[in-house]
Amino acid sequence: MIPNVLPTYNRAPLTFVKGEGTWIVDDRGRRFLDMGAGIAVNILGHANPRLVRALTEQAGKLWHTSNLYRIPQQEALAAKLVDATFADTVFFTNSGTEAIECAIKMARKYHYEKGQPERTEIITFEGSFHGRSTGAIAASGSEKMVKGFGPLMPGFVHLPFGDHEALKAAVGDKTAAILVEPIQGEGGIRVLPRSCLEGMRKLCDEHGVLLILDEVQCGMGRTGKLFAYQSAGIRPDIMAVAKGIGGGFPLGACLATEDAASGMTVGTHGSTYGGNPLACAVGCEVMDAVMEEGFLDHVTAVSSQFVQGLNQLLDSHPDVFEAVRGKGLILGLKCKVPNTDVVAACYDAEMLVVPAADNVVRLLPPLNISQAEAQEALNRLGRAASAIEAKL
Ligand SMILES: *Cc1c(COP(=O)(O)O)cnc(C)c1O
Repeated sequence: MIPNVLPTYNRAPLTFVKGEGTWIVDDRGRRFLDMGAGIAVNILGHANPRLVRALTEQAGKLWHTSNLYRIPQQEALAAKLVDATFADTVFFTNSGTEAIECAIKMARKYHYEKGQPERTEIITFEGSFHGRSTGAIAASGSEKMVKGFGPLMPGFVHLPFGDHEALKAAVGDKTAAILVEPIQGEGGIRVLPRSCLEGMRKLCDEHGVLLILDEVQCGMGRTGKLFAYQSAGIRPDIMAVAKGIGGGFPLGACLATEDAASGMTVGTHGSTYGGNPLACAVGCEVMDAVMEEGFLDHVTAVSSQFVQGLNQLLDSHPDVFEAVRGKGLILGLKCKVPNTDVVAACYDAEMLVVPAADNVVRLLPPLNISQAEAQEALNRLGRAASAIEAKL
């Protein structure tokens, strides 16, 4: 018999009842170190007092009005994002998928309004993940995600990851945009080299093509910069953001330059809940925290500690781990044993980590994790690796 909850997830038999900072407690009272943070979402940890206050204060005043009226919290958050990034304007959503949908529509509308309606193709890359809507699965093109869901939305071209020659050959007068994650998250923490991002920007400029970045997972401080593109010395035209931006409250955003957004006039796009007062009150508090002096430096410092510790684990457990990947606090361990075994061994060591494609285990802790907690995570990973070795 089908469960009451549609069984599209293979859930671990763990039930959590409360959290505090980097720790999360299950229904048996066990305290887990949370190195997954709800898949890169809870960037300020669980039950962060600032976020609890922002949410409950707003909850006592006004939850929802719709976008038929002005929403001050939404305008405030948009101003903070515009101030801190390449963007001139922001559309708010409830998820990353919706931010990607907005980006795709915006790119096609841009060329349509500029008198080039034939420019509809969007170039994407193997191993990418952009969400689960019919548009987003067509964008990623992964066999696992699209099988049985056809006919797929047309107009996506899938290229190998990091092959600049293939990209050069594919960009033409039908191309509307290149859509890319600066660091593939679900794809296995694959960092796009800086030279690739520079090359893409150059190609886009030469051919009048828009560059869309998907920073849903790698953005909001996770790499040690507010957004990953900021360490590559380039600017996108459009960028999808979500996950960390709400610190655990559902919130996403599509950021754009004035030019890229020029087709999105009144009535062309919308959302009932997108940018509601609750989400944006929390989003403002998250942005303020991430922009505080020293916050991003802390991410970089803890990252160095992790990278050093993970490389030591690699040396001491060569039959379990193969490579360390990533940047900032979006880190991956490529495994020699099945990554699901490592995830299970971490559960036994009372720590949450997240599997990814390419046999990788992801570490995506809250960005305010302390150095002592980072050391504890390394210790628990070591214990998990030893337990696996004992069974090899
Ligand atoms: C998670 C993710 C999405 C989809 O976000 P949802 O909030 O699950 O809709 C899109 N792109 C990337 C890179 C992601 O990691």
